[in-house]
Amino acid sequence: VYKKKLIVVSNRLPFVIQKDDLGNVIRKHSAGGLVTAVAPVVVENDGKWVGWPGPDYDFGEPLPESSVDDTSPTAGLKSSNVIPVALEPHLYQSYYNGCCNETFWPLFHSMPDKAVFSADYWKAYVEANELFARNTIKALENACDPDDPPLVWIHDYHLMLAAHAIRQYAANRQYKIKLGFFLHIPFPAWDLIRLFPWADEILQGMLACDLVGMHLQDYCINFIDCCSRGLGTRVDAKDMIVEHGGRYVRIAPLPIGIPYDRFRTLAVSAKRTIPEEKKVVLGVDRLDYTKGLPQRLKAFELLLAKHPEYIEKLEMLQIAVPSRTDVKEYQDLKEQMDQLVGCINGRFSTPTWSPIRYIYGTVSQQELAAFYRDAAVCFVTPLRDGMNLVAKEFVACQINDPPGVLIVSPFAGAGQNMLEALLCNPYELNETMETLHRALTMPEDERTLRMNYLRKREQSQDVDFWMKSFLRAIGRLDGEEAPVV
Ligand code: UDP
Repeated sequence: VYKKKLIVVSNRLPFVIQKDDLGNVIRKHSAGGLVTAVAPVVVENDGKWVGWPGPDYDFGEPLPESSVDDTSPTAGLKSSNVIPVALEPHLYQSYYNGCCNETFWPLFHSMPDKAVFSADYWKAYVEANELFARNTIKALENACDPDDPPLVWIHDYHLMLAAHAIRQYAANRQYKIKLGFFLHIPFPAWDLIRLFPWADEILQGMLACDLVGMHLQDYCINFIDCCSRGLGTRVDAKDMIVEHGGRYVRIAPLPIGIPYDRFRTLAVSAKRTIPEEKKVVLGVDRLDYTKGLPQRLKAFELLLAKHPEYIEKLEMLQIAVPSRTDVKEYQDLKEQMDQLVGCINGRFSTPTWSPIRYIYGTVSQQELAAFYRDAAVCFVTPLRDGMNLVAKEFVACQINDPPGVLIVSPFAGAGQNMLEALLCNPYELNETMETLHRALTMPEDERTLRMNYLRKREQSQDVDFWMKSFLRAIGRLDGEEAPVV
């Protein structure tokens, strides 16, 4: 049980502040892994959350409390514990759409050709991180007990410099704090990181923490290698420790989990939307070029072409959540998807059946749970993905007997530890198609055996397990000490 002061810092607050039709300021819950994972712990511990409130919030206006019918994980987060960070629209544009999404997102996902390197973006990133740091210091006022220092937990690639500034401000005020960072995306190899002209500052920013957590050992190894080669720091690669500025920084692989029980409960109560006699291959993703969506559709098309026995018998349901719609790469991907879906449906549809149902939008978690539960196959084919929570949520919702089959790409973090799933390389179209065919024809006992192992792991290594692992690694779990370095 975590009973100490916790301050979470993330790009976005766990909800967006908006005006409803009557002009009332309301909270709109944001979907996504981080909120689902961390918000319940912040609420439970009366912690604080520092983040950007969205473009519609008028600074000076009181922050809204949650509404009475709010069932989201942030329902209990009091507005007095929310610290909104003001970012001017032009600054936000260059920092968020620019540096975060046009530079770091593709670079860290090993797609340097898509990355834009711009001094203006970088300047905005530095400035925005500074603003987050100043607001975090505000949140720390009256919270710093030297005998029980609060934990400041910074999240993700938007804020890789914030720890550096927070540490300096805290030292000036003689605040004692613990600083933790978790990266929710991959950390790439030195060959890629070095392409970024200000890579040293990124590494130094992260090394201002006491603990840097990442999903996979591979990402940690990359980070340690970058510190050694980029900064010349002394590293202990075996124990994953980097020496920096007279301090020891622990780097730890801490793969995130999901709220397993919540998804399972949703799956038990969710209304059926896929009729029992229908066989559905399910895809659920933000519309992002890292997710391998065109490859997935093409593999499905090839399956229909090579195996006509699936015509009128099988459907693909693809949910594509609109994402970063201001960025050109994402607009191009939307066009490509619209065309591909149209092409494949045009090619194979019969008067009573279409092969692809394509939802460009968001669905509720209740609906999602029903899709997960009743799909025959969940088809997770990222070209690169830090973890991929969809793969895990699918497993949690598998309550039917016999269960469905999970296919996952080895280039997603999930593919590294969900070993009983079918793995397939999405770059190889034929292999992807064959894997899908194998999943659709897998004997029931094999499905059950594989799913039992997958379920067991996700249940025991759920999001609470992840939280505790992070807190344990930074020495903040009651009764447990930090490792001696
Ligand atoms: N999700 C959702 N509604 C949707 C589609 C997706 O709430 O219509 C959620 C899904 O349950 C999952 C998250 O979005 O928790 C996606 O996380 P993932 O790690 O798979 O990908 P990311 O979007 O973080 O890259």
